[in-house]
Amino acid sequence: MTETQQQFATTFPGVNFEFDKPLAPMTYFKIGGNAEIFLETADESLIGRLAEFAQQNQIPYRVFGGGSNVLVPDEGVPGLTLKIALDDIKEVGTDNNGKRLVQAGAGIKTALLVSQTVALGLTGLEYFLGVPGTLGGAVYNNSHYLEDLIGEHITRVQVVKDSQGPYWLANEECDFGYDHSRFHSTKEVILRVEFALANGDRETSQALIRKATEYRAQTQPLGPPSSGCIFRNTPNTPELRKRFPQFAERSHVPAGFLIDQAGLKGASEGGVVVSDKHAAWIINTGDATAKEVISLVNKVKQTVKEQFGVELQEEIFLLK
Ligand SMILES: Cc1cc2nc3c(=O)[nH]c(=O)nc-3n(C[C@H](O)[C@H](O)[C@H](O)COP(=O)(O)OP(=O)(O)OC[C@H]3O[C@@H](n4cnc5c(N)ncnc54)[C@H](O)[C@@H]3O)c2cc1C
Repeated sequence: MTETQQQFATTFPGVNFEFDKPLAPMTYFKIGGNAEIFLETADESLIGRLAEFAQQNQIPYRVFGGGSNVLVPDEGVPGLTLKIALDDIKEVGTDNNGKRLVQAGAGIKTALLVSQTVALGLTGLEYFLGVPGTLGGAVYNNSHYLEDLIGEHITRVQVVKDSQGPYWLANEECDFGYDHSRFHSTKEVILRVEFALANGDRETSQALIRKATEYRAQTQPLGPPSSGCIFRNTPNTPELRKRFPQFAERSHVPAGFLIDQAGLKGASEGGVVVSDKHAAWIINTGDATAKEVISLVNKVKQTVKEQFGVELQEEIFLLK
């Protein structure tokens, strides 16, 4: 047992920590090492106390959602890794515009949340059915489908960061933007999310879901292990608008387009390769390592920078 494992075991007796837990099988990329200390829990007060203890003792901690947007380092992650087991969903009333309010636990699978809201006769979240992982991860990075951002449907988010207990943040406080939220910098653990959704029609909702699912299947390499889009789309500029007029009306130029134009489809590093189907995706062809992913990401960034003067930014998070 490491010193930190010992520290958690003695400070929180009776808590079912798992030590040296392999994370790779829990990620969509199937890459990475172990979590020194891992705990899956729905105990909100315990989550707050654990976060406080980790902060006070300078022990790193982080939340692991569904593992669909992270790269776990080969050497694993030190300290505490929390998985939030809150996955309830309930209707709690209506807002001033007559929209129905639905609250869901951060650990619920995003796809399940969408299908349950559709089953309740609600509309708004259909396009997120194909976003893998949990609601907590979707809120953390303000998941998107084309121009639709999940934050636009959220009224408030409940979080905890210490033993003072959970508190709610209004949508305006969450600083939602494209691939961005305040949670990137606050270390707050997302517990619960409230949505305001309009009454819909199940058949129309099912048609929207079918449309999005078919589009994904046509444009994304959905079979092999990956973390989806590795790069964010690039904010448009006058220079990019002139060079790529087909995207002139858009706020962003697709990263996959720039990578494709740079001739990088099929580029590889060890066991990872830039997808032929969607160039912003990197595929694990078998036994790839995180080191190889990072190396290929750097190669892509450097080539795109040289060719178009664009600094691509990663959409995935390196778990630290
Ligand atoms: C096949 C595929 C398709 C995808 N399609 C899309 C898409 O269409 N649109 C899109 O936006 N993304 C897409 N993604 C990326 C990914 O699925 C989303 O970003 C997803 O919302 C991440 O959720 P997760 O639970 O897996 O988060 P994880 O990967 O587990 O974590 C991501 C980040 O969120 C943090 N986090 C997770 N839960 C919490 C919490 N409760 N509190 C605080 N922080 C938390 C983690 O610490 C980490 O920093 C795709 C990925 C794959 C593999």
